[in-house]
Amino acid sequence: MKIESVTAHPLRTELETPFAFSQGWVRARCATLVEIRTNDGLVGWGEAFCQGLEAPEISATIIRDCFAWMITGQSPLDTERLWFEMYNRSRDFGRKGSVMAAISAIDTALWDIAGKAYGRPVWQLLGGAFRREVEPYATGFYRVTGQGEAARLVEEAQMHRERGFRFMKVKIGFGVEDDIEVMNAIHAAMEGSGITLMVDANHAYGRAEAVYLGEAMADMGLRWFEEPVVPEDLESYAHLRGRLPMAIAGGENEHGLYGFNALFRSGAVDIAQPDIGSCGGITGMRHIMALAQASGIEVNPHVWGSSVAQAASLQVIAALPDAHHALFARQPILEYDQSAHPFRNDLTTRPMTMKEGRVAIPDAPGLGIEVRRDTVEAYRI
Ligand code: CA
Repeated sequence: MKIESVTAHPLRTELETPFAFSQGWVRARCATLVEIRTNDGLVGWGEAFCQGLEAPEISATIIRDCFAWMITGQSPLDTERLWFEMYNRSRDFGRKGSVMAAISAIDTALWDIAGKAYGRPVWQLLGGAFRREVEPYATGFYRVTGQGEAARLVEEAQMHRERGFRFMKVKIGFGVEDDIEVMNAIHAAMEGSGITLMVDANHAYGRAEAVYLGEAMADMGLRWFEEPVVPEDLESYAHLRGRLPMAIAGGENEHGLYGFNALFRSGAVDIAQPDIGSCGGITGMRHIMALAQASGIEVNPHVWGSSVAQAASLQVIAALPDAHHALFARQPILEYDQSAHPFRNDLTTRPMTMKEGRVAIPDAPGLGIEVRRDTVEAYRI
């Protein structure tokens, strides 16, 4: 079996209501998909993580101009070998960002093909499922005007609770005092209802502000404080981890086994959040899972992509060992973005759904999805 074609599909749809996270206003949802075909007629799909402020054409161009020709004609089952070939041959201009996102997309599509070739879900190829379902957490709480939205965000929390979520992640990073007002309001409204909160600053702060904010939230029982400072500032990460009571999480903007090795060796995080679409794909995730296990660090994947990335993320969550083994070991929770996103509901024939507060992990071959070509064509740039 040989790789016959590698096609990038950059997708874009304008949002009716733009929303903000701490780094800017998101006016469109985008996705970069890759479709790989073999000479046997198998098709694999992968996705490059497209950040809210990133143009999907960037990874698409890298897939097309940098890697498509490199892997065409090779065996799609050589996932590890092709990962290193792509990584090594792009090292001098890659290693991070969109180049790694392009590698991630291709690698995920190769694993999808491998699963279809062997007739097994990806989690089986990874060594088996530690779990066949996962509890999702609501990611949302984006801003529509900017600051001063505490009352509206409390209403959003109540909506997530009514829909059956027990975990919620609140976007912060809109000024320390505004964040504290929002978190005090949501925490007070949710108190006593069995809801666990997390916060995500999207690296809005420096060390001093992050300490001040973290101390103000010390008694909220937060499961984690995500990306308090910029991803490059590993020293501040380590400082916060020693100083604040809650777990420090990060890694959605880190890449590959080398990047995560540096993150772990610097003592930066309690919880690593690799994104399947930028950490190096399934192969990258496998490397990071082993590194994390050896470092005593919990892996809780980040996912903000389309239903392709969600499906791939579910496969690795199934195969993720407990970080700290115990009879009642804490389980990973699934990031379930609650913002408007047509690439979630209409892109695959079996979009991810929550039933009774849980998301089932499919056992169909590969990623367990069929991509709808009509949706790809409708939104393709
Ligand atoms: Ca985040």
